Amino acid sequence: MARVLAIDIGGTKLAAALVDETGSMLRSATRPTPRTDVMVALAALIEEVTGDGPAPEAVGIGCAGPLDLAAGTVSPVNMPSWRGFPLREEVRALTGLPTMLAGDAQCMALGEHWLGAGRGSSALLGIVVSTGIGGGLVIDGVPLLGPNGNAGHVGHMTIDPYGERCECGGRGCVEHYSSGPNLARWALANGWTPGRPDGLDGPADARSNAADAPGGTASAQNGAADARALARDAAGGDPVAVAAFERGARALAGMIASTAAAVELTKVVIGGGVSAAGPVLFDPLARALDDVAGLAFVRAVKVEPTTLGVRAGLAGAAKLAWSQSRTAV
Ligand SMILES: [Zn+2]
Repeated sequence: MARVLAIDIGGTKLAAALVDETGSMLRSATRPTPRTDVMVALAALIEEVTGDGPAPEAVGIGCAGPLDLAAGTVSPVNMPSWRGFPLREEVRALTGLPTMLAGDAQCMALGEHWLGAGRGSSALLGIVVSTGIGGGLVIDGVPLLGPNGNAGHVGHMTIDPYGERCECGGRGCVEHYSSGPNLARWALANGWTPGRPDGLDGPADARSNAADAPGGTASAQNGAADARALARDAAGGDPVAVAAFERGARALAGMIASTAAAVELTKVVIGGGVSAAGPVLFDPLARALDDVAGLAFVRAVKVEPTTLGVRAGLAGAAKLAWSQSRTAV
């Protein structure tokens, strides 16, 4: 049976899978991203997944950015040992296979379009709301990557030109309002005390589709001042926590409406750890979108949570590989 090799590279985790034409994962494995010698770990992971079975036809890689698709190089923010690293050529040389590269959020969007909540959408925006905010566009079934692979950087769209300075150097970026750490930062500055309300000790695992912890930390314990704790408190009615999500959702709504106006989006799929907050994010997001969106085609955009969760990136990387294989799906 024909298969491709999908690889998903992030600052905390390396994942690889063999994927068939229907999107089924035949074999998969993960391991932590080491501080150094990442390529050695990746080679071992590829060997583990491909083993002695039939060779895959092609390789697709989703990698944390920034990246330079023209050069095939990556410089992930959270992986200091890779700066201008020639990932595409290294994997091509290692496997001897056609190798495709894209950003991790671009692969998330492509995966959701192929197998998840974005199926059938002619103009899809996938958003990853986590420690930062990433995004990817799939237009007419094709990922819009941009000349250097930077299309879809919706986290750094300005939603307030008079707003605060963002870590990227810009001003008023949506990430500065809506990422996990920024939700928690604003809540703390406005008097949020984590875990203060009673009766909020529901199972932390209920929101565990997030390998990428929403607050930039894996802690879900009571008292942790991260976005997961904030979501728990918002669900319990803590007014500051609720306000933090409403503020973050409003910023997201501005970005979504602007992107919808630019490319006539029909659907938005939101993943990443913060999306696991569920209704405390999606309910105020729907209200804010109803308020900020005007034109009928902008108002018509559908916003849904991810259905693939952390597997979306691998699914997209596989689709990328299939697009290069002889038996394209
Ligand atoms: Zn920014």
